Amino acid sequence: MVGAGQLARMTHRAAVDLAVRLDVLAATDSDPAVLVGAPHRIGDPLDESAVVVFADGCDVITLDHELVSNEALQRIQRGGIPVVPDPMALRFAQDKLFARSELHARGYPVPPFARVDAVADVEAFATEHGWPVVLKVSTMGYDGRGVEIVAGTEEAAAVLNRGGIWVAEEMLDLECELAVLVARRPSGDSVTYPVVETVQRDGICRELVMPARVSESLQRDAVDLATEVVTAIGAAGIVAVEMFVTTGGELLINEFAMRPHNSGHATIEGAVTSQFHNHLRAVLDWPLGSTSLVAPAVAMVNVLGTGAESAAMRNLPAALEVEGASIHLYGKEERLGRKIGHVTVLGTDPDEALARARNAVEILGGFQ
Ligand code: ADP
Repeated sequence: MVGAGQLARMTHRAAVDLAVRLDVLAATDSDPAVLVGAPHRIGDPLDESAVVVFADGCDVITLDHELVSNEALQRIQRGGIPVVPDPMALRFAQDKLFARSELHARGYPVPPFARVDAVADVEAFATEHGWPVVLKVSTMGYDGRGVEIVAGTEEAAAVLNRGGIWVAEEMLDLECELAVLVARRPSGDSVTYPVVETVQRDGICRELVMPARVSESLQRDAVDLATEVVTAIGAAGIVAVEMFVTTGGELLINEFAMRPHNSGHATIEGAVTSQFHNHLRAVLDWPLGSTSLVAPAVAMVNVLGTGAESAAMRNLPAALEVEGASIHLYGKEERLGRKIGHVTVLGTDPDEALARARNAVEILGGFQ
């Protein structure tokens, strides 16, 4: 697995269950997966030769994040080692302009967008779609970094001056945001998890509920759309399809993650087979496991760093008092706003499960 963050750490746990050896390419020897003993090599995922050298001796290569040299993955694949997801499919997760353009051309619903190279392009887009405009950097953005809402030309100019390729997007009125996790084998079989309702703040996923509190027909549409598009672009492993539901009732594809995803963390306790187990099974082209939920309602809240050193670790015993709270900490430095863990609660009522998970997170942060 290229990358050794919390996703690799939780995939490592699944690998232990299945007696699969999971080596990781880590940025540092204090990366979350390295801290729990995953065999590792240190290297930069954007350095083509580091990734190619890492792959030597592996049976298959997969990812913990998408900020990886696509050229390296293509070279590895040409050398006879399978890469899951396929590097061509991975472009849909690495390059927003490519993904938007290609999906639009193939008739899939995406937000109105345009490539903008100059302020005049943003103005022209705003004339048609109104201010404010959402500007997104085409590559290398994550967790809202590289997403800017600009109210006018001056702000737009400041953003474009940073360099890089930018995509303008209509600022949508969102009813809610959904994510559908698909696990797909390279040979074609796929399963989907119940639709997840995600809540973002400042571009970061803060909490989620599964199944989503939307109509059954919308859930069906979301699952059908996700399955169809993942199959069409030939992605495999776990693929998270993030979607917008507008106040007008439109279902639009926002973006893909081609690896275990934050929106699927609640599957560890909440589903028969966790996303991490199904990712390994899919990557190895093994039979996939049941995605059924084991409770009527599953809620998850992310733990973000407060900036106070080791606050979550100090407060952990107190948070463990919260009935039914499954607490996961990733062993990361607790920098302000950084995802350092998550809490899952199963229940019969989504609001009640969410309230308990929030409570545990507040205690971890020292706010209670
Ligand atoms: P990232 O790749 O950093 O996760 P996203 O494109 O998913 O960035 O945007 C992050 C969040 O910003 C979304 O989850 C959503 O809440 C908000 N957002 C993004 N695009 C739009 C849009 N066109 N209209 C309204 N909100 C948006």
